[in-house]
Amino acid sequence: MLISKTFIPILKNNPTEAKIKSHQLMLRVGMIRQSSAGIYSWLPLGFKVMKKIEQIVREEQDKIGAQELLMPTIQSSEIWKESGRYDDYGEEMLRIKDRQNREMLYGPTNEELITEIFRSSIKSYKSLPQLLYHIQWKFRDELRPRFGIMRCREFYMKDAYSFDLNDDEAKFSYNKFYLSYLKTFKRLELSAIPMAADTGPIGGNLSHEFIILADTGESKIYTDKRIFEVDSEGYRLEKKSLEELRKKFETYYSVTDEKYNKLEFEKNVPDKYRLITKGIEVGHIFYFGDKYSKPLKASVDFQEGKKDFVKMGSYGVGVSRLVGAIIEAKYNDKDEIMKWPLSVSPYDIAIIPLISKNDTSNLEKSKSIYQFLIEKGIDPILDDTDENFSSKIKKFNLIGVPYQILIGKKSEGDLLEFNEIGKESKRLSLNQIADLITKLKSKI
Ligand code: ATP
Ligand code: MG
Repeated sequence: MLISKTFIPILKNNPTEAKIKSHQLMLRVGMIRQSSAGIYSWLPLGFKVMKKIEQIVREEQDKIGAQELLMPTIQSSEIWKESGRYDDYGEEMLRIKDRQNREMLYGPTNEELITEIFRSSIKSYKSLPQLLYHIQWKFRDELRPRFGIMRCREFYMKDAYSFDLNDDEAKFSYNKFYLSYLKTFKRLELSAIPMAADTGPIGGNLSHEFIILADTGESKIYTDKRIFEVDSEGYRLEKKSLEELRKKFETYYSVTDEKYNKLEFEKNVPDKYRLITKGIEVGHIFYFGDKYSKPLKASVDFQEGKKDFVKMGSYGVGVSRLVGAIIEAKYNDKDEIMKWPLSVSPYDIAIIPLISKNDTSNLEKSKSIYQFLIEKGIDPILDDTDENFSSKIKKFNLIGVPYQILIGKKSEGDLLEFNEIGKESKRLSLNQIADLITKLKSKI
């Protein structure tokens, strides 16, 4: 992409209405635009990042055998009345009436709708387990929307649902999602820790939140620092292996506010490993048995002709919140430098030429580099404007594309000035750069 042709409306200064760095940066580099309180438009740069996150989330769901479908944003109130949540959900639910005066709502979550879909089609235990997910907009009329897209009213979520025959099988499904979440966040270069959590209005008795550390996070957490060393590599999609993985994490005390117990914390965590801090919830998984299948009458026939309600779990990832969470983790607001993980960066590499009025040779050179990289399957962005060199670099440090080729005095002949944000710059040939980026992309 040529920057002169893109829609990246950059602001000169940090917007004063934004209190946390992700919100500031997203407005500053034109990733989002507020349309009304807690409701945002996603501009091309922000949308591109979110789509890449979505794709990684999707791939990791597919790997555990979950199947993607798409449910609507608008739901009928009937099924919510059946489950009893139409009244319980309270004012966070946006209620709408259609022209026939029917009560509709903008879905805040989809347990009821997916159960309704399941019960109308699946009748036999032979069709279990079923793992289904969709990635869709949600609406929650949050009392205090804040921090940009971190706590907004309309947001993009991946929500998955599992249906199993019994508790044991259902826990196996639960553990599959547990693993897939660890893998997802790793690919996003986030260290998200699973923490025992409260189940809240979703209900049930087994639940984990996946939390990344950040001062601006809204969840207070109590953890054992050794949990950051636990590695999720090498675990297979088998019952025993996944149980071992969870046990390994659960060796270390790690809980959110609601589950915190001072005595237990002090008993289980030696002084030097104690960490009390704040974090951002990026995912939340629940096991709740027949909480929804019972009132909604979702049952299957057993082998001996018996019937029972299916056992369910639900599994959410805040896809849009993750855009902000990654910025909170990776943006250095003091030096105004952002570095996206290559896996979700809006572009793979930035080409930044020094262009003077009477000498366009650098621009010509940049254009041929640009063409070459595209042919290699790399997604570059070229700054073809005549803005001065240092402000171009400053601008790209904010946009956060992790790699840069600087076509200025230090790029001579075949050797180009190559910069990885936050590291010493190097001189490499164009082939070396293309090979390096291709190799890094293959590991995503
Ligand atoms: P929170 O405690 O932050 O309100 P929650 O427990 O209500 O979250 P879930 O119902 O588990 O959230 O939703 C799954 C995921 O959706 C959360 O882990 C979070 O990443 C995201 N999410 C929830 N509410 C919002 C919101 N208002 N804005 C952006 N993302 C959200
Ligand atoms: Mg909430």
